[in-house]
Amino acid sequence: SGPPPLVELLSPADLFIAVKTTGRYHRPRLELLLDTWISRNMQQTFVFTDGEDAGLRERMGANLINTNCSAAHSRQALSCKMALEYDAFVTTDRKWFCHVDDDNYLNVDALLKLLSQYSHNQDVYIGRPSLERPIEATEALGSAETKQVRFWFATGGAGFCLSRGLALKMKPWASDGTFMSTAEHIRLPDDCTVGYIVESLLGARLTRSHLFHSHLENLGLVSDAHNQVTLSYSSAEGGGNTVNVKGPFSVSEDPTRFRSVHCVLYPDTAWCPGPWRL
Ligand code: UDP
Ligand code: MN
Repeated sequence: SGPPPLVELLSPADLFIAVKTTGRYHRPRLELLLDTWISRNMQQTFVFTDGEDAGLRERMGANLINTNCSAAHSRQALSCKMALEYDAFVTTDRKWFCHVDDDNYLNVDALLKLLSQYSHNQDVYIGRPSLERPIEATEALGSAETKQVRFWFATGGAGFCLSRGLALKMKPWASDGTFMSTAEHIRLPDDCTVGYIVESLLGARLTRSHLFHSHLENLGLVSDAHNQVTLSYSSAEGGGNTVNVKGPFSVSEDPTRFRSVHCVLYPDTAWCPGPWRL
């Protein structure tokens, strides 16, 4: 099998990358991303958080978006952020919306290669399904009426993308605050709500990709950083779940492995140790 067909040549400027974070993760999580993949993609990355931060504002300027959503880990608070990510995307003219969490490493070159196989005018929803089968949910209809619905969704913790064509069709259920009502209607988290709108309400389909990774899977099985679109980590004490990438830093120097991944992908980075630089 040769290279995948190229449908649309893309450049980084065609992407709108939304990163979801919260005040208490600015230092422990976001700084690592700013030092690594975001540093090479400042123009297309927008950080959605819930509190002002002078240091972050200094580094990101208008690309830091303070949502004023609650800092609670509630369904409402998380769907509030996703609603604003969506609204911010549709006001731009970018071709692709991609969402990641603040514990994701995004390999933008691999992402561009993947999305180039699709047209942004078509209905494309791409990511990793978090379950082996479709989720079953109860739609609230009238006063006491309910309806069972089944649909696939891409887990937010692995990142996912929506084409502009599909995102615009989602408007009646996603724009200007309606996303939060839709999430309440189905009583599910933000990433499930995206799947519900795409599959149940619009009749489009999730395209499964194994190039997106969350810490729900065994990341030790992932070693070829070059081809993966997203990576993640979890740092449970006594052996976390991290990718199996060698790179220049030890596990104690770089527990998430993201700095090592970054040096493997971009060895010319100033802080990557000597032998790794070309
Ligand atoms: N998050 C948030 N508000 C919270 C807690 C978490 O916006 O109160 C964000 C967090 O920054 C991350 C995502 O939600 O981008 C998932 O959080 P986490 O990785 O802690 O939980 P997981 O669901 O992956 O176990
Ligand atoms: Mn996580």
